[in-house]
Amino acid sequence: MSRVYNFSAGPAVLPEEVLREAQSGMLDYNGCGMSVMEMSHRSAAFDGIIKEAEADLRDLMEIPDNYHVLFLQGGATQQFAAIPMNLMRNGKADYIVSGSWSKKAFKEAKLYGDAACVASSEDENFSYVPDVDGLAFRPDADYVYICQNETIYGTRYPKLPDTGDIPLVSDVSSMFLSEPLDVSDYGLIYGGVQKNVGPAGVVIVIVRDDLVREDVNPQTPTIMRYITQAQAGSLSNTPPCWGIYVCGLVFKWLKGLGGLGAMQRINEEKAAILYDFLDQSSLFTGTARKDCRSLMNVPFVTRDAELDALFVAEAKDHRIESIKGHRSVGGMRASIYNAMPKEGVEALVEFMAAFEKAHS
Ligand SMILES: *Cc1c(COP(=O)(O)O)cnc(C)c1O
Repeated sequence: MSRVYNFSAGPAVLPEEVLREAQSGMLDYNGCGMSVMEMSHRSAAFDGIIKEAEADLRDLMEIPDNYHVLFLQGGATQQFAAIPMNLMRNGKADYIVSGSWSKKAFKEAKLYGDAACVASSEDENFSYVPDVDGLAFRPDADYVYICQNETIYGTRYPKLPDTGDIPLVSDVSSMFLSEPLDVSDYGLIYGGVQKNVGPAGVVIVIVRDDLVREDVNPQTPTIMRYITQAQAGSLSNTPPCWGIYVCGLVFKWLKGLGGLGAMQRINEEKAAILYDFLDQSSLFTGTARKDCRSLMNVPFVTRDAELDALFVAEAKDHRIESIKGHRSVGGMRASIYNAMPKEGVEALVEFMAAFEKAHS
C-alpha cells in the first residue's frame, strides 16, 4: 500500500484510522453480518449510527439544544436554493460575496426573492474578505449570508459580521470542524462534508429552531423543507447511510484527538509551516491577503505559468498529489484539511524549497 499526500480541495483526504475502521466493517458491521451500505435505514443498527453521529457532533461543536442537526443530500449547492426557500419570509436577504461559492449562492437566491449584495471583494479577484465593520444590513432582511472559508481563493473571515437580530447564515464547507465555532452566533451553519468531514454525498445543516417553520416559500419541495427533515430525524427518505456512518467515525476520531480546540492547534501549526515558507520565498507567493488567510486552503503561484505546470508535474515524484490550483487563481493550491498529516505539509515545503533552489 502506498498512500500519497493528497492536497485535493474535495473530495479530500480522510484520516487513515477512519478508513481502516470503515474497511474492517465492510463485510460485517458490528456482528450484523452485513455492511452499513447494505442495511435498512430503518434498522436498529442504523438508528444507532445516526443518533450517535448526531450526539458526537453536538458534543464536538457544543451545539445548543435549540438547534437542529440535519444530515441531508444534494451537496452544499442544493442549500444555495434551500436556504432562501426556507428562510425568506420578507423575501429579502443580504449577501456578502467573497468568492465563487458565495457568488453562486447569491445568484441562486435571486431566483427566490430580493437578494442584495452588500459587499464584495471581486474587485481584487477575491483575494480578501470584505471589511465587515460598519456594514449596513437591511433591517427587514431575513438573513445575512456568508461563505466563511473560501475554498478557491483561500480566504477566511477574520471576524464575523455583526448582524444584530438578523440571522447569520454561513457556508462552512471547507472549514467544517477545523476549529471551534460558537454555534449561537449563527441562525444556520451548513457544509458539504466532502471537504473536511467525510465522503461526498452528505451535507450537514445546523439550524436554529425558530428558522425551521411551516410557512416557507410554497414552491419548496417537501424534501427540501427543513421542517420535513427535522420532524423525521433526517430520515424522511433514504439518507446517505454510508456517508453518515463515515462522518460518525470522523467525529469519534476528532474526539479522540481532544476535540476542536486541539484540532485547531494542529491546523494552525500545519498552516504556519506553509505560510512561513511562502513569506520568505523568492519564488512562491501566497495569493490571499495576509489578514484573511485560510487555515485550510492555501493558493500560491510562481507568477510563471510554465514553472507552475512543472512544479505540479514534478510534485508527483514526491507523492504530492492534486496540488494544481483552481483555474480562477492559477498556480497551486494546497488544501491542508484536518486529515492532512503534518509530514505531508513538511514534504510539500521541502519540495518547494528544492524546486526554488533549482529554478532561481
Ligand atoms: C465545495 C464547496 C461547495 C459546493 O459543494 P457541493 O457539495 O459540490 O455542492 C460550496 N461551498 C463551498 C465553500 C465549497 O467549498
